[in-house]
Amino acid sequence: MEWEVLQRTREAFVSGRTRPLEFRLQQLRALKRMMTEREVEITTALKQDINRSQYDASLLELIGIENEINLALGNLKEWAAPRLVEKNLLTISDEAYIQSEPLGVVLIIGAWNYPWAVTLIPLVGAIAAGNGAVVKPSEMSGYSSLLLETLLPLYLDKDLYPVVMGGVPETQELLKQKFDHIFYTGSSLVGKLVMGAAARHLTPVTLELGGKSPCYIDKNCDISVACRRITWGKFVNCGQTCIAPDYILCEPCVQGYVVECIRQTLLEFYGPDPKSSPDYGRIINQTHFNRIVGLMEGYAPVLGGQCDASQRYIAPTILKDVPPHSKVMQEEIFGPLLPIVTVSGLDEAIHFINDREKPLALYIFSSDKKVTKKMIEETTSGGVTVNDVMMHYTLISLPFGGVVV
Ligand code: NAD
Repeated sequence: MEWEVLQRTREAFVSGRTRPLEFRLQQLRALKRMMTEREVEITTALKQDINRSQYDASLLELIGIENEINLALGNLKEWAAPRLVEKNLLTISDEAYIQSEPLGVVLIIGAWNYPWAVTLIPLVGAIAAGNGAVVKPSEMSGYSSLLLETLLPLYLDKDLYPVVMGGVPETQELLKQKFDHIFYTGSSLVGKLVMGAAARHLTPVTLELGGKSPCYIDKNCDISVACRRITWGKFVNCGQTCIAPDYILCEPCVQGYVVECIRQTLLEFYGPDPKSSPDYGRIINQTHFNRIVGLMEGYAPVLGGQCDASQRYIAPTILKDVPPHSKVMQEEIFGPLLPIVTVSGLDEAIHFINDREKPLALYIFSSDKKVTKKMIEETTSGGVTVNDVMMHYTLISLPFGGVVV
């Protein structure tokens, strides 16, 4: 079945219809139309999957896809044009240039936490580059995946951009096939399996993974502003964001005030009962619910901690004085738990970060330029935002992703 889908996509690619730029532009315009015409259905599916509010659906997912389509529409001609290169004496009268061309058929494997963005943003690139693309959305965000399967063939070429539904066995079956590139978003564990499967065909991969993104609060900063921004970034989408601040590092002398500021902000954002707030999300499924609850074991949260398995609800939760070797500090939390680890100052914070995997994102809150400069110079991460969270992701002019090793 997976083989047949790939075969059909490859035949459509070989037909040559993706070669003309006009065809690609027309497909991109159709995708943009889909996002506008079907916005209500898309936001409803996100509500059903993860209790995402309409405002957050637009802000966190739909605007990014539209920007990506606009970027491709506005630049495709230039991207696809031959790039003249410098010549030497031997080639002075020759033409020397780099010509970009489509790779063939690519595979896009998406995750559930931003199910539209992580499948459609790579698809925009695949279409713009003139490739066919097999799209495999995550089985965990079932409503969004089903809607994607219904909508894509109504707007795009059916043979060039098929959607394959299913879970692990279907993805594994797809991974046995030979693609020309694989774009995977998800956990590092599965990332290794994807890379292993791709290696068997020498297929290049792009892996968008996760990790623990630290957040350093220097005592010399506006702590209430810092906490407001951290609280937004941590608890939006119920903590299920790859670049959410995973944990806080700060000195013991400011820890109490940090907790107090987060308490006040949570009250303002979600009211006294976040469970009944229309702006507070839910955990995607029971497995992740149990995993996150397990990370809290042995701690008395200083804030939150309430859970309701029947709704997959976990309250915004703060854990203070968390020991560096505790369970919650061993893996990406990917849920609404925010541990605070105390350090003696900037040097220990840098040492703490460098002792672990290179983070996908790093956040520094300080009014002292020397502190931010030192932290940036002495650590390595996929991206840094100073005095805010996640904002580097919103700039289309910056690259996004983890550190390439
Ligand atoms: P997931 O469980 O939905 O898995 C992602 C995809 O992998 C799915 O399509 C699934 O079918 C497939 N898959 C799962 N197990 C598999 C297996 N054993 N073999 C083959 N395929 C398999 O999503 P997830 O992994 O829980 O996603 C969350 C992770 O994604 C987090 O770590 C998060 O940080 C990361 N993420 C990263 C980015 C980024 O841009 N860097 C964006 C979003 C999410």
